[in-house]
Amino acid sequence: MSNTKYVFVTGGVTSSLGKGIIAASLAKLLQQRGFSVTIQKLDPYINIDPGTLNPYEHGECYVTDDGAETDLDLGHYERFLNIPTSQANNVTTGKIYQSVINKERKGEFLGKTVQVIPHITDEIKHRVQILGNTGDYDIVITEIGGTVGDIESLPYVEAVRQLKWELGDDNVIVIHLTLVPYLAAAGELKTKPTQHSVKMLMQSGVSPDILVCRSEHEINDTIKRKLALFCNVKKQDVIQSLDAETIYDVPNLMFKEGLDYVVLDKLNLSTRKQPKLRAWNQFLERHKNPTSTIEIGLVGKYVELHDSYKSITEAFIHAGATNKTKVVVRWIHSEELTPENAASQLAGLNGVLVAPGFGDRGIEGKIAAVQYVRENNIPFLGICLGMQMAVIEYSRNVLGMKDASSTEMDSKTANPVINLMATQKEVTEKGGTMRLGAWDCQIIEDSKVFEAYKTTLISERHRHRYEYNNDYKTQLEEAGMKSTGINPETGLVEIVEIPTHPWFVGVQYHPEYKSTVLNPHPLFVSFIKAGLKHSKIKK
Ligand code: GLN
Repeated sequence: MSNTKYVFVTGGVTSSLGKGIIAASLAKLLQQRGFSVTIQKLDPYINIDPGTLNPYEHGECYVTDDGAETDLDLGHYERFLNIPTSQANNVTTGKIYQSVINKERKGEFLGKTVQVIPHITDEIKHRVQILGNTGDYDIVITEIGGTVGDIESLPYVEAVRQLKWELGDDNVIVIHLTLVPYLAAAGELKTKPTQHSVKMLMQSGVSPDILVCRSEHEINDTIKRKLALFCNVKKQDVIQSLDAETIYDVPNLMFKEGLDYVVLDKLNLSTRKQPKLRAWNQFLERHKNPTSTIEIGLVGKYVELHDSYKSITEAFIHAGATNKTKVVVRWIHSEELTPENAASQLAGLNGVLVAPGFGDRGIEGKIAAVQYVRENNIPFLGICLGMQMAVIEYSRNVLGMKDASSTEMDSKTANPVINLMATQKEVTEKGGTMRLGAWDCQIIEDSKVFEAYKTTLISERHRHRYEYNNDYKTQLEEAGMKSTGINPETGLVEIVEIPTHPWFVGVQYHPEYKSTVLNPHPLFVSFIKAGLKHSKIKK
């Protein structure tokens, strides 16, 4: 039995209140007070993981070192806490049911009727405690996706009720994140939606210990008292969360409101040590006081939903702060980009990032973007599909192989410069079967990437089925596109560069997943630096 304490974060009234940011900010404060903390997300949907989801549904699919395809909130957890998450940090209803049904098929329930209570709720409790039972954490914060009152959330709330009963009120607490809307016509903040959502929680047998109230206006003492009285919490346990200028302000704002203090107090943990936020605040200082501004184009096919590229835009923020530079993103829809309009669409940019993706929609636009930046010496970073498009562009326009393509888009191409990995040939199921997670890459010293990483062996996260076709390697290298990073075991080309270009780097892996506030990703830092140089030369 470990001594781990559990903090649940539930949501009320509406979705999109930022539970992930509140959970990450609280975790940051507790971590900086010296506690070891991790954050877990429970997603009440039936998909096993978001790997099979279109990014338009819930935004980007985030990938961990151990190859889990997860909710984008795990990206926030890592960016705030600077420690890796794993398979155990994201649990879905699909995973819960899958393991219960697998056990049933093996006969493990010994003839019993398998039911939501106790079998599904037991499995939820087990998944929550897996992290605690490692003994690695003083506190596990578990965010429950969705909104209280949703049918699919019910088993989760029941599992929380049981855990609170089993482990006690000083080992399990519930933070309810809710909305206190402002009615302009009445000139008033309204507490009723919060009262209703707390009532809903209470109907399931769970009383929240702390209310975090999202609001566009200051919540005064009278309103706090009213919320406390009708939601059955102490006044000091009503924490206001006003809109912030940046998500990275939220830990400081929550500290000012005393969220970490009330949490520790309720869990009977020491409040003596204050959170050490010096490095965090140094980042904020640089982020908020840039001395230059550059504009980077982000070319992708999901640009209507910026969350589809969350880790990339956050990595720009981290790398921008390192360079004391404000990075403005110009969103460019790959389907609207052509060789004819590339010059006008990309005019004035100091760098272009061609994004990851799947399938053939928008790929010709991505290729047009690569050609333009290559020919016009604009810094380029291609990620995964973006790197593959760079190889295709070079093969077509420099090597003259007009039909060069990837077998993902054109299975019959005579020049498959990108083709299916041998290990993927027998794969029939879509879920969880890509080349996923952390793999090593050996870097050559005479390269832009070595300048960035300052080391020859790196480990980066992956999510792909197709790869650089080594049959074309000699031709491509002789024509000026160098392979500067290679997987030492398989020979898979991980990085391509054009040394005659000011900064042209394509990577098969996803550097964006590993950029954090305290460890901005070296490749993004170098890319922004190249963009800054480009902006100065132009003037
Ligand atoms: N569709 C490409 C592949 O599977 C690239 C994947 C990606 O960009 N994440 O290899």
